[in-house]
Amino acid sequence: MLSHHASAATPVATECAAVLLPLPLGRAYDYRIPSDMAVAAGDFVSVPLGRRQVTGVVWGKGDGDIDPKKIKDIIGVLELPPLTDELRRLIDWTAAYTLSPPGAVLRMAMSVPSALDPPKPVTGYQLASASSGSPAANESSEARIRVTPARRKVLDFMAGRSACRASDIARRAGVGASVVKGLAEAGLLQAVTLARETYFEKPDWERAGPVLSPAQYEASETLRGLYPRKGDTDFSVTLIDGVTGSGKTEVYFEAIAAALAAGRQAVVLLPEIGLTVQWLKRFESRFGVAPAQWHSDLTGVQRRHTWRAVISGEASIVVGARSALFLPYPALGLIVVDEEHDPSFKQEDGIIYNARDMAVVRGHLGEFPVILSSATPSLETIVNCQSGRYGTLSLPERHAGASLPDILAIDMREEDMPRQSWVSPTLRDAVESCLANHEQALLFLNRRGYAPLTLCRSCGHRLACPQCTAWLVEHRLSGILQCHHCGYTTRPTPECPKCDAKDPFAACGPGVERLEEEVAALFPDARLATMASDTIHGPAAAAELVRRVQDHEIDILIGTQIVAKGHHFPMLTLVGVIDADLGLAGGDLRAAERTYQLMHQVAGRAGREDRHGRALLQTYSPEHPVIQALVAGDQKGFMAAEMEERSRHAMPPFGKLAAIIVSGRDEEAVDAASRALGRCAPRGPNVDVLGPAPAPMALLRGNHRRRLLLKAAKDVQIQALLRRWVRQVRTKGGVRIQVDVDPYSFL
Ligand code: ADP
Ligand code: ZN
Repeated sequence: MLSHHASAATPVATECAAVLLPLPLGRAYDYRIPSDMAVAAGDFVSVPLGRRQVTGVVWGKGDGDIDPKKIKDIIGVLELPPLTDELRRLIDWTAAYTLSPPGAVLRMAMSVPSALDPPKPVTGYQLASASSGSPAANESSEARIRVTPARRKVLDFMAGRSACRASDIARRAGVGASVVKGLAEAGLLQAVTLARETYFEKPDWERAGPVLSPAQYEASETLRGLYPRKGDTDFSVTLIDGVTGSGKTEVYFEAIAAALAAGRQAVVLLPEIGLTVQWLKRFESRFGVAPAQWHSDLTGVQRRHTWRAVISGEASIVVGARSALFLPYPALGLIVVDEEHDPSFKQEDGIIYNARDMAVVRGHLGEFPVILSSATPSLETIVNCQSGRYGTLSLPERHAGASLPDILAIDMREEDMPRQSWVSPTLRDAVESCLANHEQALLFLNRRGYAPLTLCRSCGHRLACPQCTAWLVEHRLSGILQCHHCGYTTRPTPECPKCDAKDPFAACGPGVERLEEEVAALFPDARLATMASDTIHGPAAAAELVRRVQDHEIDILIGTQIVAKGHHFPMLTLVGVIDADLGLAGGDLRAAERTYQLMHQVAGRAGREDRHGRALLQTYSPEHPVIQALVAGDQKGFMAAEMEERSRHAMPPFGKLAAIIVSGRDEEAVDAASRALGRCAPRGPNVDVLGPAPAPMALLRGNHRRRLLLKAAKDVQIQALLRRWVRQVRTKGGVRIQVDVDPYSFL
């Protein structure tokens, strides 16, 4: 059996070990094990690499086919628990699946280099007499130096107290740091090494949770049943398929409790981790303490502490973004992927992988349960449930009898829309009556900034990013024009750069900033707030805004997709979607599915308690199948039709797709490499290659881009095919070839 306790790894028998380094290298390198050193697979070791010394992980036995004169010695073994067999296999698996160098995947597991060093010992101070036990000694040294009132304060504070940090003593005794230092020099305080602090308390899984409804209880009992005996688990994947507000979180909390009781660690992957204030509160009220968090807003010190707490087992529960999946848990026994359909689980640069899918792989390798949760499960997951590979737990009703919102379409072709306005009279009336009832409204527009396009009134010139195939988006609050793909920013000029016309620019189309302007004019007495990833700086600001909405200090909330997910606002009864057609354009395989999911999620913010909610979708194509399905509440029918469509065209998950992106600064070299790839493309009855063609983002961050798409039948081993294919092409001039297996982005 392969399991978490494989960490008690077998020693490598030969005298040489294969060590994988966290660098983009294709394989592990051999190093000699000095005769006085014991080394086991998974150990962190420091080794020489050229002139540097780097830390790597023992991956197994070396092949021993290196010239014995050239092989170098392992320098030392770090004092850290080993990487488990499970994680090492996940790294190899991910590397093979995504065609990435294993060392680059290892780097995701070792993303905090400073955490590899043992923490510096912390010095504390106690009364010298406390250890000598002789008050007389103390008195005589007191006699030697003048005991000022400040010094007296410290001595009194420390009487009968155990050692503290100097800074804590000074602060709590109300004196300056030099006072403590002076007492230490005079021998009245004695320096000692403090025991290492713990950063994460054990969650109390025995605390009572809320009283569950019969459906919730039944689902949670099934999940608890996955942990029959301490330490003992099997691999399984279970989908919690529950409508918005059905209490999916409460249900998987019970699985977390069971995993913790079985002595295992758990990780919950969430999209938009910085905004999960309400989730954290609920976790705390269920388990008594906050979980460890893992996301990009952590400071370096927090990262270091958390990484070490994970590998030592001190952190038994982690909530985080997709990268939390690759942390070195020694005893992982549960992965929850909340909002499993969310596209943000797909990482699009570096190692191109889908954290939801790799979570399932990790559960498989580690033989423990994986839980996926969603109100709008992805088509891939539904197919896995239907085939019986995944189990399903359904929660068809909202908690406490709350009803699901009604979804209605507003046909914009029939609305009388003044120029430069985006709120239709129908939506305006709905907001008005919502406010008259002292309820809250949410207006959703998935576009940051003021206007997505700026053009010259005189010559029609459009302001574009010099480095990308993209328009510059005006951000009026910060007075800039910004590219949302590369971050390039510039300030508007007084003249058109093309025709020199003075003050010529017109903003075209709305972003949330512009919508707020319109809403403020329509409802001058309403209290407004806008929530977008670029206007909310950090989790604390997000928490404060969420609190204001929750406490009804806001009447109308305007937001991008960050408001669509997870929030629970009791007084929010109306959701208005400004542009329901926005995601439907373009040739994206999942455009319809994603639009359905997003609209359903955002509508799900309405009427979550005793007041009934409704969602109004502004659309120019109310006959579109996505809009029709949303209005009819026919998720099953919609997904069945999507499935039919994908199956007919042998698209994922009924067939396989991989994209190849060729990019570089030198356009000719990029074209040459793309054509070369096109010429040696694999062909066959079950394999098709489309392209090369300019990518929709033909220029990105100054790199020219071409795409090829490989489409294959389900039983084709595409990784082997791709590897052979890509190897045949030698690139020049800094051209990069990236492989994206199971692409989500077609840009
Ligand atoms: P979902 O994740 O399915 O959208 P949540 O888990 O967020 O639903 O639950 C919606 C709201 O209902 C939350 O505020 C949650 O605390 C509350 N809730 C759910 N189940 C219960 C329960 N059994 N007892 C009390 N409150 C509950
Ligand atoms: Zn750009």
